[in-house]
Amino acid sequence: MKSLMIIVIASMALLTTSCMENKSANKATELQAIFPKGEKGPAEHFTGNAWNTALVANDSTYNTVIGNVYFEPGARSNWHTHPSGQILIITDGVGYYQEKGQPRRTIRKGDVVKCPPNVLHWHGASPDTGMQQMYILPKTENGIVTWLQPVTDEEYNSGK
Ligand code: MN
Repeated sequence: MKSLMIIVIASMALLTTSCMENKSANKATELQAIFPKGEKGPAEHFTGNAWNTALVANDSTYNTVIGNVYFEPGARSNWHTHPSGQILIITDGVGYYQEKGQPRRTIRKGDVVKCPPNVLHWHGASPDTGMQQMYILPKTENGIVTWLQPVTDEEYNSGK
Protein backbone atom coordinates (compact mmCIF):
# COMPACT_ATOMS: atom_id res chain seq x y z
CA MET A 1 0.00 0.00 0.00
CA LYS A 2 2.78 2.37 1.03
CA SER A 3 4.83 1.63 -2.12
CA LEU A 4 1.72 2.15 -4.29
CA MET A 5 1.29 5.63 -2.76
CA ILE A 6 4.92 6.44 -3.52
CA ILE A 7 4.43 5.38 -7.15
CA VAL A 8 1.27 7.52 -7.43
CA ILE A 9 2.99 10.58 -5.94
CA ALA A 10 6.05 10.10 -8.14
CA SER A 11 3.85 9.83 -11.26
CA MET A 12 1.96 12.99 -10.31
CA ALA A 13 5.24 14.87 -9.86
CA LEU A 14 6.44 13.69 -13.26
CA LEU A 15 3.17 14.69 -14.91
CA THR A 16 3.26 18.13 -13.30
CA THR A 17 6.83 18.70 -14.49
CA SER A 18 6.06 17.66 -18.06
CA CYS A 19 2.95 19.90 -18.17
CA MET A 20 5.00 22.88 -16.98
CA GLU A 21 7.64 22.23 -19.63
CA ASN A 22 4.97 22.02 -22.31
CA LYS A 23 3.42 25.28 -21.19
CA SER A 24 6.67 27.25 -21.33
CA ALA A 25 7.60 25.69 -24.69
CA ASN A 26 4.23 26.79 -26.11
CA LYS A 27 4.65 30.27 -24.75
CA ALA A 28 7.95 30.70 -26.54
CA THR A 29 6.59 29.72 -29.95
CA GLU A 30 2.84 30.26 -30.13
CA LEU A 31 0.25 32.73 -28.95
CA GLN A 32 -3.10 31.88 -27.42
CA ALA A 33 -5.71 31.91 -30.18
CA ILE A 34 -9.29 32.64 -29.11
CA PHE A 35 -10.73 32.68 -32.64
CA PRO A 36 -9.99 30.64 -35.78
CA LYS A 37 -6.85 31.67 -37.67
CA GLY A 38 -8.88 32.63 -40.78
CA GLU A 39 -7.60 33.69 -44.17
CA LYS A 40 -4.21 35.13 -45.06
CA GLY A 41 -4.38 38.89 -45.64
CA PRO A 42 -3.53 39.90 -49.23
CA ALA A 43 0.06 40.96 -49.97
CA GLU A 44 -1.24 44.23 -51.46
CA HIS A 45 -2.38 45.30 -47.95
CA PHE A 46 0.00 43.45 -45.62
CA THR A 47 3.74 42.82 -45.27
CA GLY A 48 4.44 39.31 -43.96
CA ASN A 49 1.79 36.88 -42.75
CA ALA A 50 -1.37 38.35 -41.24
CA TRP A 51 -4.44 36.13 -40.77
CA ASN A 52 -7.92 37.63 -40.69
CA THR A 53 -11.10 36.04 -39.41
CA ALA A 54 -14.48 37.81 -39.61
CA LEU A 55 -16.55 37.65 -36.41
CA VAL A 56 -19.39 40.07 -37.08
CA ALA A 57 -20.31 40.86 -40.69
CA ASN A 58 -21.51 44.29 -41.70
CA ASP A 59 -25.28 44.86 -41.70
CA SER A 60 -27.73 47.77 -41.64
CA THR A 61 -28.81 47.15 -38.02
CA TYR A 62 -25.42 47.42 -36.30
CA ASN A 63 -23.30 49.10 -39.02
CA THR A 64 -20.29 47.52 -37.33
CA VAL A 65 -17.61 45.09 -38.45
CA ILE A 66 -15.74 42.98 -35.90
CA GLY A 67 -12.93 40.55 -36.59
CA ASN A 68 -9.59 39.23 -35.45
CA VAL A 69 -6.15 39.46 -37.01
CA TYR A 70 -3.20 37.30 -36.02
CA PHE A 71 0.04 38.99 -37.11
CA GLU A 72 3.03 36.63 -37.25
CA PRO A 73 6.30 38.16 -35.97
CA GLY A 74 7.38 41.03 -38.28
CA ALA A 75 4.00 41.16 -40.09
CA ARG A 76 2.14 44.48 -40.35
CA SER A 77 -0.58 46.28 -42.24
CA ASN A 78 0.04 48.94 -44.88
CA TRP A 79 -0.57 52.54 -43.90
CA HIS A 80 -4.36 53.10 -43.94
CA THR A 81 -7.27 55.15 -42.62
CA HIS A 82 -10.77 54.33 -41.35
CA PRO A 83 -13.50 56.95 -42.01
CA SER A 84 -15.16 56.34 -38.60
CA GLY A 85 -12.08 55.14 -36.71
CA GLN A 86 -11.30 51.73 -35.28
CA ILE A 87 -10.89 50.12 -31.86
CA LEU A 88 -8.20 47.46 -31.35
CA ILE A 89 -8.22 45.02 -28.42
CA ILE A 90 -4.96 43.11 -28.04
CA THR A 91 -5.61 39.59 -26.76
CA ASP A 92 -2.07 38.19 -26.87
CA GLY A 93 1.50 38.92 -27.89
CA VAL A 94 3.39 42.14 -28.53
CA GLY A 95 2.92 44.53 -31.42
CA TYR A 96 3.18 48.08 -32.68
CA TYR A 97 0.69 50.84 -33.47
CA GLN A 98 1.72 54.08 -35.13
CA GLU A 99 -0.08 57.19 -36.33
CA LYS A 100 1.65 59.25 -39.05
CA GLY A 101 3.96 61.85 -37.50
CA GLN A 102 3.77 60.22 -34.04
CA PRO A 103 6.24 57.82 -32.41
CA ARG A 104 5.52 54.11 -32.76
CA ARG A 105 3.77 52.66 -29.71
CA THR A 106 4.36 49.15 -28.35
CA ILE A 107 1.08 47.38 -27.60
CA ARG A 108 0.59 44.22 -25.56
CA LYS A 109 -2.04 41.74 -24.42
CA GLY A 110 -4.77 43.64 -22.59
CA ASP A 111 -4.19 46.98 -24.35
CA VAL A 112 -7.06 48.83 -26.02
CA VAL A 113 -6.23 51.30 -28.80
CA LYS A 114 -8.55 53.87 -30.36
CA CYS A 115 -7.57 54.89 -33.89
CA PRO A 116 -9.36 58.19 -34.57
CA PRO A 117 -11.38 58.71 -37.77
CA ASN A 118 -9.32 59.47 -40.91
CA VAL A 119 -5.99 59.31 -39.07
CA LEU A 120 -3.28 57.61 -41.14
CA HIS A 121 -1.85 54.67 -39.17
CA TRP A 122 -0.61 51.07 -39.24
CA HIS A 123 -0.57 48.15 -36.82
CA GLY A 124 1.30 44.87 -36.64
CA ALA A 125 3.45 42.48 -34.67
CA SER A 126 6.86 43.12 -33.11
CA PRO A 127 9.83 41.48 -34.88
CA ASP A 128 10.17 38.61 -32.37
CA THR A 129 6.65 38.09 -31.01
CA GLY A 130 3.38 37.89 -32.92
CA MET A 131 0.19 39.70 -31.96
CA GLN A 132 -3.46 38.73 -31.70
CA GLN A 133 -5.79 41.70 -32.12
CA MET A 134 -9.54 42.04 -32.24
CA TYR A 135 -10.76 45.01 -34.27
CA ILE A 136 -14.04 46.89 -34.16
CA LEU A 137 -15.04 49.17 -37.03
CA PRO A 138 -18.07 51.34 -36.15
CA LYS A 139 -20.40 53.38 -38.35
CA THR A 140 -19.62 51.41 -41.51
CA GLU A 141 -22.19 53.49 -43.41
CA ASN A 142 -19.26 55.93 -43.80
CA GLY A 143 -16.99 53.21 -45.23
CA ILE A 144 -14.49 50.80 -43.68
CA VAL A 145 -10.90 51.35 -44.82
CA THR A 146 -8.74 53.20 -47.34
CA TRP A 147 -5.47 51.38 -48.03
CA LEU A 148 -2.23 53.21 -48.80
CA GLN A 149 1.45 52.31 -49.20
CA PRO A 150 3.34 49.56 -47.30
CA VAL A 151 5.20 50.36 -44.08
CA THR A 152 8.87 50.22 -45.13
CA ASP A 153 11.45 48.27 -43.10
CA GLU A 154 12.99 51.62 -42.12
CA GLU A 155 9.65 52.95 -40.83
CA TYR A 156 8.91 49.65 -39.08
CA ASN A 157 12.32 49.43 -37.39
CA SER A 158 12.86 53.10 -36.53
CA GLY A 159 9.34 53.75 -35.34
CA LYS A 160 9.44 57.26 -36.87
MN1 MN B 1 -6.48 50.20 -38.69
